[in-house]
Amino acid sequence: MNRTRRVKIVATLGPASNTKNKILELTKAGADVFRINMSHASHDLMRATVNSIREVEAELNFPIGIMVDLQGPKHRLGVFENGELDVRPGDTITLDSDPTPGNAKRVHLPHPEILDAMQTGHRLLVNDGKVQLKVIATGTGWAKTEVLSGTWLADKKGVNLPDSELTSGVLTDKDRADLAAALKEDIDWIALSFIQRPEDLAEPRKICQGKVGILAKIEKPQAVEKLDEIIHMADAIMVARGDLGVEMPLQAVPSIQKKMIRKCRNAGTPVVVATQMLESMISSPVPTRAEVSDVANAVYEGADAVMLSAESAAGDYPFEAVSTMNSIADAIEKDKGYLRTISGQRPDPEPTGADAISFAAAEIADTLDLAAIVCFTASGSTGLRAARVRPAKKILTLSPVPQTARRLAMTWGTHCIITPDAKDLDDIVDKACRIACREGVAKPGDRIIITAGVPLRTSGSTNMLRIAYIDSDGQGSVYQSGT
Ligand code: PGA
Ligand code: MN
Repeated sequence: MNRTRRVKIVATLGPASNTKNKILELTKAGADVFRINMSHASHDLMRATVNSIREVEAELNFPIGIMVDLQGPKHRLGVFENGELDVRPGDTITLDSDPTPGNAKRVHLPHPEILDAMQTGHRLLVNDGKVQLKVIATGTGWAKTEVLSGTWLADKKGVNLPDSELTSGVLTDKDRADLAAALKEDIDWIALSFIQRPEDLAEPRKICQGKVGILAKIEKPQAVEKLDEIIHMADAIMVARGDLGVEMPLQAVPSIQKKMIRKCRNAGTPVVVATQMLESMISSPVPTRAEVSDVANAVYEGADAVMLSAESAAGDYPFEAVSTMNSIADAIEKDKGYLRTISGQRPDPEPTGADAISFAAAEIADTLDLAAIVCFTASGSTGLRAARVRPAKKILTLSPVPQTARRLAMTWGTHCIITPDAKDLDDIVDKACRIACREGVAKPGDRIIITAGVPLRTSGSTNMLRIAYIDSDGQGSVYQSGT
């Protein structure tokens, strides 16, 4: 598989797509990372899906990232005597801790921590914001609310709380069980839903012990306020526009998306833009013009990855959705304005060897019109720093660690190949040249630039930059500097 696209594609798996054959087809169509959503998958299904993905990975010899997305504290109403309740603005209804079915006066809210956290003036958004309630009085175990807008409540509808800061941790009992099961499998990312504070990452980080990367889904206004600290604590970020667009005014979401992508790029943290990107393709083989523009916009903004949810998990056209995303990204990346825009926003290097060398490599590759930048990276950090530059020339990352290659599958522009450690400097050059040719990023007669930390495998030691010439048989390690 030889991908030239820089932005990566995350595809959610579900009943429309979670068999091995379909996963194979989706990978060929362009998926780089698969998301398993624990709101819908059982542990058995999660395990079976991970195994199918790894089989596909072995068959295609192409590193694939796997993200297990924990449901998080998703809150729901209790039930009504009649299954539903018609409401009108101005009506009042009390939410309480009594599990008996609700009526026109009251209904159960089976989350004591919300009842504790709610204060007069706080809003509750029910059923993706279709009904808005405002708290007008509170007591122990209850909150009286007034209907601000909307007409219909029903059993178990979701509740968003944009104004209340919940003190409970972000992991529910279900999340802890799901996380324990997921960590037994060969996965790369855990996604945390509804985090509010940087501290919310502490417990999951302790449980994961570095085995997987932690992706923080930004879908609450409280998290937007603490974005800098959360980016600092997380290994990746998701612009979770679905819930963000419920908890915040829809028109606030595009500028938050831009801000998040910019901040993540500054930090060198991968950022995924998610939700409703090609929503109409759930039931249509072609997207709307507006959806194409939405995907294009995320690509122009320099996102690391764009994501499909129901389009690939439960829709009628999962393959079409992935290949549509692939073609949009390809087309945008061919636009000359694309790289100009992206490199115009290049953040300054930090004073580290990895940054100084990554920036220099991009400059030299441009000045000498080299074919590619080849980075040796064991932990992946050199690869991430190279991607942060968003260089015009292709990045090829080489790593002996399969987990690193899989993690980099969600990072902008890095095409990662698993290869044993090089023995010495000659071997570094030889490997870089051979693999660059094999992967189609360079050809005999081209020159490439190589970055590495020597000795290899010493994390944080990026200290080498070398221009290499690929000799005529394409195997060669004949190299000369800067001719
Ligand atoms: P979800 O998260 O699909 O798990 O809700 C993404 C979002 O809210 O956008
Ligand atoms: Mn969400």
